[in-house]
Amino acid sequence: MTSTDTPRITDAELRAQFPLLHQKLGRYDLVYLDNAATTQKPQSVIDAIAHYYTRDNANIHRGVHQIATRATEAFEASREKVQRFLNAAHKEEIVFTSGTTDAINLVAQTWGRADLMPGDEIVVSEMEHHSNIVPWQMLAQEKGAVIKVIPVTATGEWNIEALDALIGSRTKLIAVNHVSNALGTINPLHEVVSRAREVGACVLLDGAQAVSHFPVDVQALDCDFYCFSAHKLYGPTGIGVLYGRRQLLETMPPWRGGGEMIDRVSFSGTTYNKPPYKFEAGTPHIEGVIGLGAAVDFVQSLGWDAIHQRENELLHAATERLLRIDGLKIYGTSSRKVGVISFLAEGIHPYDLGTLLDNQGIAVRTGHHCTQPLWERFGIPGTVRASFAPYNTIQEVDTFVSALEKSIDMLR
Ligand code: PMP
Repeated sequence: MTSTDTPRITDAELRAQFPLLHQKLGRYDLVYLDNAATTQKPQSVIDAIAHYYTRDNANIHRGVHQIATRATEAFEASREKVQRFLNAAHKEEIVFTSGTTDAINLVAQTWGRADLMPGDEIVVSEMEHHSNIVPWQMLAQEKGAVIKVIPVTATGEWNIEALDALIGSRTKLIAVNHVSNALGTINPLHEVVSRAREVGACVLLDGAQAVSHFPVDVQALDCDFYCFSAHKLYGPTGIGVLYGRRQLLETMPPWRGGGEMIDRVSFSGTTYNKPPYKFEAGTPHIEGVIGLGAAVDFVQSLGWDAIHQRENELLHAATERLLRIDGLKIYGTSSRKVGVISFLAEGIHPYDLGTLLDNQGIAVRTGHHCTQPLWERFGIPGTVRASFAPYNTIQEVDTFVSALEKSIDMLR
């Protein structure tokens, strides 16, 4: 996507595209380091949404008037952008959902309810977000299925040696994240996908924390389902994507009933639309889909090389400086990480640190990050998490580390 002759965008040029970043919290310039929770939105995404409402607002798909046609074209153009973004083979494989959580629930409630039998096994990992645990627990309870868990090592990686004992003839689904939101670990997916293929299990990948950091190719990954949320990819909230292999989407029953998902409705029996529309009942989040398309354009204009280079610089600079702080421990020390650092300062509650940092204009996340089983494994209630995006700067890393040192001194 990026050519090496593309000139690297400067910090100032990139930051100028994000209006929210230019504000003060009290007397401090905002330092936004909560990008794993949600990224900020470039002006191009905000403009695309504003343009839709000021020029193209109409309900999509069945209108014959020109405004409806423009809205439908913009909506479906985004589907094609997402198809290319994930390198999906067909645009019909891209289902719009309200986010990653919704996409996982869709698979659980359609594929899962139809295909799972008592005693079947679902494999997840100990570092999953609650949204890739609870829908499977609810399904397992209903269907009499069993959940198996890939353990996590002290460095915050999957214990691959455990896979042989966990994956077998009863495994029907392996549902794991591509990147951990709590640790930043990039997981070795080929290890689980190849074992899934050996036993004929389906693979669902939670890509919520992956898609903004590196290119994702669902065909090369050889997964059956891939999910992500637009709001972690510089796009709007309330919109996300379920990629599903076409043959699977075709045989899966619908979930929510209503307009758009039908072929013909009659009191003697209703027939359903084809994928993806079979899974998109009701008026969709039209401006969200259009905003997502603009977000994909933004990422492509920046280029993966620039994104990777910037995030790596930030991650390494911050890690190196944090490790110099006495009594500070980083959770998640894999050599394959995105720009996420989870840490604790000995004897200090994460909320206290988070509050003092906020008082100095620095936005980080504190708490369990929706991964309680992971922290149970480490014997802690949660962490402070700083997470980076390409619009962050080394100067912000320095400001953050100085403020952290000052806060730790105050609390000790
Ligand atoms: N999975 C992972 C790894 C996440 O980081 C998140 C969001 N924190 C989710 C799933 C859920 O995403 P959403 O709330 O947008 O549905």
